Amino acid sequence: MAYPLTEAAKEWQHQARLFTDQELIPYEETAEFNNGELPPEVYERHKQQALALGFTRMDAPLDQGGLALPLLTQVLVWEQLGRVTNALCWCMSEVHQWMFEACNADQVERYILPMMHGMRRECYAITEAEAGSDNTAIRTTAGRVGDDYLISGEKWFVTSANKADFIFLQAVVDEGDVNNDQHALFFIDMGSEGIEILDNPLFGHAYSSHHPTYRFNNVRVPVINRIGAAGAGMDYTRSWFRRERFMIAARCCGAAARLLDMALDFAKQRVVSGHPISEYQMIQAMLADSITELWAARLMTYEAAAMQDRGEDLSLIHTHCSMAKLYASEMANRVADRVVQIFGGRGYMRSNAAQRFYRELRVDRIWEGTSEIQRIIIARSLLKRGVEKVIGK
Ligand SMILES: Cc1cc2nc3c(=O)[nH]c(=O)nc-3n(C[C@H](O)[C@H](O)[C@H](O)COP(=O)(O)OP(=O)(O)OC[C@H]3O[C@@H](n4cnc5c(N)ncnc54)[C@H](O)[C@@H]3O)c2cc1C
Repeated sequence: MAYPLTEAAKEWQHQARLFTDQELIPYEETAEFNNGELPPEVYERHKQQALALGFTRMDAPLDQGGLALPLLTQVLVWEQLGRVTNALCWCMSEVHQWMFEACNADQVERYILPMMHGMRRECYAITEAEAGSDNTAIRTTAGRVGDDYLISGEKWFVTSANKADFIFLQAVVDEGDVNNDQHALFFIDMGSEGIEILDNPLFGHAYSSHHPTYRFNNVRVPVINRIGAAGAGMDYTRSWFRRERFMIAARCCGAAARLLDMALDFAKQRVVSGHPISEYQMIQAMLADSITELWAARLMTYEAAAMQDRGEDLSLIHTHCSMAKLYASEMANRVADRVVQIFGGRGYMRSNAAQRFYRELRVDRIWEGTSEIQRIIIARSLLKRGVEKVIGK
């Protein structure tokens, strides 16, 4: 391993690898051919194992029962979890450190700690029909009426909403003449009156977590369910994005590593015209490009996480996190494409993990900010700071 890792970090990496390879990967095809679903007892076992391993509380503070692991260690765990297809690693809800900073004690008690202990599940609703990449354009409103807000609007692509019992929802506050046009984040319980499911579209992957579209018809939410100040919503969402972008980068590296393992095994044993295809230089070129790009993506992702562990400037970490997400997600898509090619016709079969990754990794260039949006973030930072401030001399 070229990157220096502590013994403790390597142990987390090892445990995550064992869990992924021994417990999750054997169920990929069951999920693929059953719309992403596993038998309930298997899903529950995976969830309990993830809880026991501590994966739901890696980022939580120690005084809340968390593990406060360095971000680099958490990245190592998510990298290993990224080796599995069909999102089988989403058998748990993990809490993020920012949630403890943003929420008051009552909200931590009612939502965040139950989430960490596997008793509640969340989903996150920002995107709307007319507000995706530009999430400042959201139109869902939170109108103040006494001690409540009435939430009205439509939210698209609400991942895991079918499994969630509460929603983090971002809306534009309307409180008469104060706080108008400010974004705020709310906890909304799933069973609240006025929540209507409009659509549950099928996507390119077979996941048991769906991405439905919802309408909120004057859903009454108590003021105590507003997270932090009216106006702080976008900051929390940026924290959410940063965390998710890091872990997308990590999972993309894990996926690419597994794809390459598979490609190597296959290329060495598949004989065409009297030779293993690994002897053909066009195959070797695909392998060489893939390992080179994977190494680059991995180093970028680890180093961006290490920046956060060293307490470096947050806006620079935001830039580096975008670079890691952009590069790792595009790298993994290229690797998946090459590995499907190396497998030939077998690579087009849904029973082949390369085929599943080829479809599944595509969305990593879209969600939590498209590749174009990551490029905008990176370019703005570069234009503002210059090369040296962004990556050193
Ligand atoms: C499977 C799935 C799950 C998702 N889960 C969630 C979720 O849980 N919660 C949630 O809130 N959202 C979720 N999303 C939404 C996701 O974050 C958005 O799809 C994404 O941010 C892009 O928004 P959009 O689809 O509206 O595309 P648009 O914003 O319409 O963009 C269309 C195209 O234009 C490009 N573009 C936009 N602006 C610019 C610009 N300034 N310069 C150059 N190009 C630009 C984009 O990069 C893209 O290529 C999910 C999406 C998918 C597909």
